[in-house]
Amino acid sequence: MDKPKVLIIEDEEKIARVLELELSYEDYEVKTALNGLEGFQLFQSETWDVILLDVMLPGISGIELLRRIRSAQSNVSIIMLTAKDSVEDKVSGLDLGANDYMTKPFQIEELLARIRVCLRNKRPILDKVSESSWLSFSDLKLSETTHEVIRGDDRIELTPREFTLLSYLIKHPRQVLSREQLLNGVWGYDYYGDTNVVDVYIRYLRNKIDKPYPTNLIHTIRGVGYVLRETE
Ligand code: CA
Repeated sequence: MDKPKVLIIEDEEKIARVLELELSYEDYEVKTALNGLEGFQLFQSETWDVILLDVMLPGISGIELLRRIRSAQSNVSIIMLTAKDSVEDKVSGLDLGANDYMTKPFQIEELLARIRVCLRNKRPILDKVSESSWLSFSDLKLSETTHEVIRGDDRIELTPREFTLLSYLIKHPRQVLSREQLLNGVWGYDYYGDTNVVDVYIRYLRNKIDKPYPTNLIHTIRGVGYVLRETE
């Protein structure tokens, strides 16, 4: 079995380093992000089993990051870390779908135990939902648990960003989506780059999921944006 993958999002370098060392020693595959933005990018670019998420982060707060991760429909386990024993943070964290909560300073053994609980609870749930976790539109199917995309009988390889874009489209079928909506939904609110990035990725996606097939599913609505539908 592959090593479980843990993403640490923590701006205090000393704590991050200790966690990384301890978890690597316990045979987890670990990566660390020292700010929220970097953390969100790492979350999007790979599949994780557990995320250790600091609440007090510069830039995007841990709570905001938690909201984004959950709205990406990810069922990764999230353990929030905070320096202050704030009931408010705890409640909003758990409300927004954190699996657990640790108040700093904590014993590493305690954290390791909670990570093991997360991993134990996760597998059977994943197995149970895997059958029904396919999103589909027309002859296109997408699984967020296994990251697979199938059109007709073909398995299609997408990059993580293409995958996120397609899953956003498939969750909003027959709705005309503006570039801004797609940017916010897929790249996040703090993306300051060019909105052309949407057009570029739509083109990549079309080359893979539309071009080789008789009917196109992604359509351009001139001056507005894009829509996933079966008819022109
Ligand atoms: Ca912090």
